[in-house]
Amino acid sequence: ININLNGKIALVTGSSSGLGMEIARYMAKAGATVAIHYRKEVEPATNLADDINKSGGKAAIFGGDVSKRSDVEKMFSDIDKKFGPVDILVNNAGIDGKRELCGDDDPDDWERVISINLLGPYYCSREAVRRMKKSGHGVIVNITSVHEFVPWSGYTAYSSAKAGLSMFTKTLAQEVSESGIRVVAVAPGAIKTPINKDVWSNPETYKDLLTKIAMPRMGETKDIAEAVTFLASDYASYITGTTLVVDGGMLLYPAFKHGG
Ligand code: NAD
Repeated sequence: ININLNGKIALVTGSSSGLGMEIARYMAKAGATVAIHYRKEVEPATNLADDINKSGGKAAIFGGDVSKRSDVEKMFSDIDKKFGPVDILVNNAGIDGKRELCGDDDPDDWERVISINLLGPYYCSREAVRRMKKSGHGVIVNITSVHEFVPWSGYTAYSSAKAGLSMFTKTLAQEVSESGIRVVAVAPGAIKTPINKDVWSNPETYKDLLTKIAMPRMGETKDIAEAVTFLASDYASYITGTTLVVDGGMLLYPAFKHGG
């Protein structure tokens, strides 16, 4: 069995770093032409595109802020011109924001997290769906988080955005399933990337983190990239409107592991 995305055009938002970068590599390895998206980090995006092109794949970089509708519209039309209409969209770009308790927080920070993590995927999906309806097929993979299920004190914006993105996944899936389009979500647990470096680079917080994971280990970027590549492929052709949790058992209440 071999996942084959030959002939597909895949856009991975936020692929200049972390999970998005690994997902873009996997998409390319599976044969897709990859639109690498970055916001400011042009150098890692360029290096990734060079790596993919040198190893026989096809990739190019596209910039923009996903929370700005005009940037998203321009990005999709630039991809149309360079490669053609997108067949696979991975809404990966996101931030967790500062830890702030509701009431003592700055509403601008809340709005920013919602704009990037919820409006961004909506703007991108909207552009993608218009194209996918014309081609009669397509897959959208939304990267949510275990925090679409688990509350996270100090991060009301992040948790709300991810839970919102989960419901967006289901509702959009219902809307577009007759057009041959699937919409799914992947909910990562704790995966080692720059977003959570302050947690895994400090031995004390790292030890505490491991108590929250049943396996117990942090996830690697490849754990997510494999799940996303599978969901984008025809091996998942009967899967839509649901979330695949990839968390090493974070949702298994590991605090109960030893009975008591
Ligand atoms: P990361 O910080 O390495 O990558 C985030 C990416 O999003 C970067 O490429 C950044 O440029 C991009 N981005 C941020 N704001 C943007 C904007 N306004 N416009 C365009 N791009 C923007 O973090 P990561 O861990 O790779 O996170 C990727 C996704 O996975 C995020 O949506 C995050 O919420 C989700 N996630 C990560 C974890 C984890 O443990 N790493 C767990 C659950 C969910």
